[in-house]
Amino acid sequence: RAKELGGRRVEVFAAHMHADVVRRLELAADLQRALQEKQFAVEYQPVVDLATSRVTAVEALVRWWRGSTFVPPEQFLGPAEDTGLIVPLSEWILKEACREVAGWRESSWDIGLSLNLSARQITAPRFVETVSEALAESGLPASALTLEVIEEMLVEDAEDTVAKLSELRALGVRLAIDDFGTGYASLAFLRQLPVDMIKIDPSFVSGLGRDETLTLLTRTIVRLGHDLGLIVVAEGIERPEQLELLREMGCTRGQGYLVARPMAARGVDHLMRTTLQNTA
Ligand code: C2E
Ligand code: MG
Ligand code: MG
Ligand code: MG
Repeated sequence: RAKELGGRRVEVFAAHMHADVVRRLELAADLQRALQEKQFAVEYQPVVDLATSRVTAVEALVRWWRGSTFVPPEQFLGPAEDTGLIVPLSEWILKEACREVAGWRESSWDIGLSLNLSARQITAPRFVETVSEALAESGLPASALTLEVIEEMLVEDAEDTVAKLSELRALGVRLAIDDFGTGYASLAFLRQLPVDMIKIDPSFVSGLGRDETLTLLTRTIVRLGHDLGLIVVAEGIERPEQLELLREMGCTRGQGYLVARPMAARGVDHLMRTTLQNTA
């Protein structure tokens, strides 16, 4: 009887596996088609200087509408990475975002662009050349581009990754550690890679004013960043109390739904125009 049950369990498991494999294959095929049919879009979330509330940069965030269903990046970035589609997709995001931000800088003020990198994108051949090309073609100065990495990217191919990122930094591109504080090696990461910025993970920011430990940890990260001469960005600001505490801690910049949601290019256009009018 036990054998029978065990056997059935294997069958059920196999059926699940099968469904899972089919779903992954479908997703992979859809991703390929989506890229060809230009179903992807880039949204931009403003990052503000906390002391002045001025927009200093926008973070590019990829969007995919699969038919009429929105697929969150966390659901398709893994499969895109597994199939290698992340490489052409990332190149498209890079070029599109550089072009758009360069345009906004012409018509208003010198905002920067923050871009999320994927591990496979960095280790792909011609990564450094692709970034240089995007800058040259768009006219965006290297110093206006910040590349965001998470520490998991240094787990495999650490040497190659650090070498390529350092090469870009030597060209004037800035580097940021995203989701800072969540990995097991955040501090080791700071020693391996010459970075300019850390972005405090929302899991700390969410507890500001509500949780003593998280508030203390946020304050400690802000101080650490400043002591190392880094720009410190707080992510996931949703409540006024968080904003107030971060200002009081001297955190440099902030990002979150309370400040501004990710928006289509048209939204940034509008935001920059109305902000200019307000200050004129
Ligand atoms: P991330 O780089 O840490 O980006 C911040 C995420 O938090 C974004 O989610 C953003 O929409 C969301 N967010 C911003 N403010 C708030 C807030 O106040 N509250 C809450 N709850 N969420 C907030 P999104 O766009 O779903 O992206 C998720 C992750 O996917 C990103 O995390 C990044 O790791 C990755 N990703 C997004 N776009 C790209 C891309 O173009 N390339 C690569 N390689 N990764 C990307
Ligand atoms: Mg990011
Ligand atoms: Mg983050
Ligand atoms: Mg993240």
